[in-house]
Amino acid sequence: DMAMYEAKRAGRPMGVFDTHAQINPQLVSLEADLHRALPQQELELHYQGIYRAGVREVAAAEALLRWRHPDRGLVNPDEFIGLAETNGLIVPIGAWVLREACRQAAAWQAQQPGLSVNVNLSARQFWQPDLPEVVLDALNSSRLSPHLLTLEITESVLLDVPDAAQTLGALHALGVRLSLDDFGTGYSSLSYLHRLPLHGLKIDRSFIRDLGQAQGVAENIIRAVMLLAHTLNLHVTTEGIELEAQAGFVEALGGDHLQGYLLARPLPAADFERQVLTPNQS
Ligand code: C2E
Ligand code: CA
Ligand code: CA
Ligand code: CA
Repeated sequence: DMAMYEAKRAGRPMGVFDTHAQINPQLVSLEADLHRALPQQELELHYQGIYRAGVREVAAAEALLRWRHPDRGLVNPDEFIGLAETNGLIVPIGAWVLREACRQAAAWQAQQPGLSVNVNLSARQFWQPDLPEVVLDALNSSRLSPHLLTLEITESVLLDVPDAAQTLGALHALGVRLSLDDFGTGYSSLSYLHRLPLHGLKIDRSFIRDLGQAQGVAENIIRAVMLLAHTLNLHVTTEGIELEAQAGFVEALGGDHLQGYLLARPLPAADFERQVLTPNQS
């Protein structure tokens, strides 16, 4: 909606006061409801397959948060993550996401050995000095191998969190992988790419969407980012792959992983298990 659009354009989190400095009653009630979402078990994770380029085999699942609201139905993260970041609820919610995603990935090992799970972290979670302990807790309680957990961070972590590099070092020391999400949409310099213990980056889907338009600008950007990333030994995931031509373009350039509706949509765990992990089940 409009308030969300304006908040995004202004680069600030969505809050209850965002609509022209007036209180938005719809958001006030959404915020009140959000306090109950976790204790009332209204949150769930959907999983989207991440595929190896070329062979098109599933390598990982990205955990994507959904809120099953009693009246509104399924609410997407774009509608409440900003709110949860503003009021701090993203901290307990994020800890729950980590535990639940690790538990699920560990449970899937029997069916799909080596399947890893990607979890999105918000910059707000990095303000908490105990983030590495929260991650370790999720690993210990699930007994998931650390290298099967990939934490997706955005450039905002690097820009807004004073001790980000130190915390990323601590997370790296746990053996988990770090991936830079939405690559190409931020404003910061490229220098952190080799300074931080990153395993990979995800090229933002806006570049994939623009393939085939405007004098090949998106093609050139993707080609350049791919070259840069591979020079620095970083894995490249391209997200938002909706068309076979987009997948083919990325594969021809040597992209490592593909993600998008062409291969699989985000699915509830049970559907992911049936459709992605065992596609030929009879
Ligand atoms: P993201 O991390 O960039 O996740 C990718 C988004 O693109 C997801 O939206 C996914 O459903 C969507 N997507 C995947 N493939 C395609 C495609 O082929 N075409 C199009 N048009 N879209 C595609 P979703 O699930 O609505 O999540 C939106 C954002 O919410 C995520 O963007 C992420 O920033 C945030 N988010 C989701 N779950 C969590 C979470 O557990 N914690 C935090 N902090 N943020 C989360
Ligand atoms: Ca992500
Ligand atoms: Ca992304
Ligand atoms: Ca995003």
